[in-house]
Amino acid sequence: MKVNQVSLTISAVAESQYPATGYPEVAFVGRSNVGKSSLLNRLIDRKSLARTSSVPGKTQTLNFYNVEEELYFVDVPGYGYAKVSKSDRAKFAAMIEAYLTSRKQLRGVVQMVDARHEPSADDVSMYQYLKYFHLPVLVVATKIDKTSRAKQNAVIKMVKQGLDLNQTDHLVLFSATTGEGKDAVWQWLEATAEI
Ligand code: GDP
Repeated sequence: MKVNQVSLTISAVAESQYPATGYPEVAFVGRSNVGKSSLLNRLIDRKSLARTSSVPGKTQTLNFYNVEEELYFVDVPGYGYAKVSKSDRAKFAAMIEAYLTSRKQLRGVVQMVDARHEPSADDVSMYQYLKYFHLPVLVVATKIDKTSRAKQNAVIKMVKQGLDLNQTDHLVLFSATTGEGKDAVWQWLEATAEI
């Protein structure tokens, strides 16, 4: 998809603020620093619409980006490292859980993992959680430019095994730096959101 128009509709802290337009939504999840903002910006060809966070775990809102009046990208706060109080963390965990489990418009989830490391315990929990709720998942292994071509098959194997990836879920190797994998991510988004 060629993106001309994209805007941040709302940084929501409560369900009452979610957009009521009914467009299909795709959520983006991953550990802080995995490259989520960079991926979002690369998908929409913007330099800094989605903030690249220098403070890990700072974003504690659900950010709804209206893409071409056709779908919403929903940027979910990064898990792990959150420098927030326990009570705030619990509050946001409840909000995210409610969003992921009951949002009618949610068509699927893009889960990012770092291509250089085995999926962490948090990554595995998140994937299992998404599968428990029968959400279609696209796993994106980020920062693949930091891995040599010769090692790409090993990355695929490591991520598939580490997450115990379902047959029905896809895996894309991605680089926000080179743009590798961008078209494959868009293909999945369009098919999943049916746009
Ligand atoms: P977020 O916390 O998940 O939103 O992660 P960011 O998008 O802010 O990225 C975290 C760090 O990884 C930043 O220093 C980025 O420049 C770097 N980064 C993100 N994506 C890539 C990538 O594809 N390749 C490389 N080499 N670095 C990346």
